[in-house]
Amino acid sequence: MSDISSLGDLTGKRVLVRSDLNVPLDGSTITDDGRIRASVPTIRQLSEAGARVVVTAHLGRPKGEPDPAYSLAPVAARLGELLGQDVAFATDTVGESATETVAALQDGQVALLENVRFNSGETSKDDDVRGSFAGQLAQLADAFVSDGFGVVHRKQASVYDVALRLPAAMGGLVATEIDVLRRLTVDPERPYVVVLGGSKVSDKLGVIDNLLGKADKLLIGGGMVFTFLKAQGHEVGKSLLEEDQLDICRRYLEEATERGVEIVLPTDVVVDTAFPSGDREPQPQVVAADAIPADALGLDIGPESGAAFAAALADARTVFWNGPMGVFEVDAFAEGTRAVAQALTEVDGLSVVGGGDSAAAVRKLGFDEAAFGHISTGGGASLEFLEGKELPGIAVLERN
Ligand code: ADP
Ligand code: MG
Repeated sequence: MSDISSLGDLTGKRVLVRSDLNVPLDGSTITDDGRIRASVPTIRQLSEAGARVVVTAHLGRPKGEPDPAYSLAPVAARLGELLGQDVAFATDTVGESATETVAALQDGQVALLENVRFNSGETSKDDDVRGSFAGQLAQLADAFVSDGFGVVHRKQASVYDVALRLPAAMGGLVATEIDVLRRLTVDPERPYVVVLGGSKVSDKLGVIDNLLGKADKLLIGGGMVFTFLKAQGHEVGKSLLEEDQLDICRRYLEEATERGVEIVLPTDVVVDTAFPSGDREPQPQVVAADAIPADALGLDIGPESGAAFAAALADARTVFWNGPMGVFEVDAFAEGTRAVAQALTEVDGLSVVGGGDSAAAVRKLGFDEAAFGHISTGGGASLEFLEGKELPGIAVLERN
């Protein structure tokens, strides 16, 4: 595996770094800078090695053309603050501004290119279109470092195609992520407990499939749990329900029994009569999981379940957690997520938080990130890795 040292002496070399700087914005205010922080060490490492660092990244889902709502300009400012040095900002990705900005860089200086997804070539399904855009990116640099773990599962120009066109290496962030994820899949220390939540079962089927064969216990909360409760024959009122996944959930429950994997579902849930919105004070109520009123919807696991989940995690030596236990964005429905997060901080072994919202939840609830073994920056990428899929952005580096 080629790490940055494989690129040789970087003094004076232009190094293109694909980072994941896809942070949540409220207007132009960054509401959670976790991904920028996570990207700093590799950028700093390259800068200290004397490289002229050209960072490329995306923000949100613009439609392949410039859209000021998705400009990386606020990110350039924050990156500069965190790095403690100016970050030059190019107002395009491969155009005149980018070319001039890169040409003006001195050794050790850093530039950020405007949102790479302002170019339709970035995400094109057509290999030639993507390749031609990657060729333009490659002209801005002498070497490429892949450090955007959140995008390595995407076959996109700045992730995949550019690595075919320049000497390429894996950044430290991606290397750490892959190392930790391997520890979750190859011979994990036991007991190995997996906690799944978040909104949809359908997003996580592949992971459940794969981890049912590896974990000792599977704890399920979040919006997806209601499809499991319904599969067990309970009514779930107006809770999130994926009717078309009921059979699969039933099958998972049976398979778990056959394999001796313990599936733990909540015994109580916090409900309300409406999904939280700005217009109305939440009216949380705790009910038994098998007695959800017809006019209510489950928005968090209850306190008894929070305690039971924490107890189930107490002796774990390996934990993977993906997906909040409830609508943690609203305080009234954040306690289940808090209980699980707290339990993870007390694990004597490897505790891994995966998933964009789960990582944001941990920070929003005020936990010290250092209290966890690892907080993955890439939701989709970590899930695909755990599903056993090949990640194009990693495979392309391994062929080098
Ligand atoms: P991650 O990004 O960590 O993989 P997901 O994207 O799967 O997590 O899910 C996160 C979302 O799930 C959060 O926005 C949260 O509000 C929502 N959620 C959690 N529990 C429920 C629930 N009971 N009903 C509806 N949405 C829920
Ligand atoms: Mg999410």
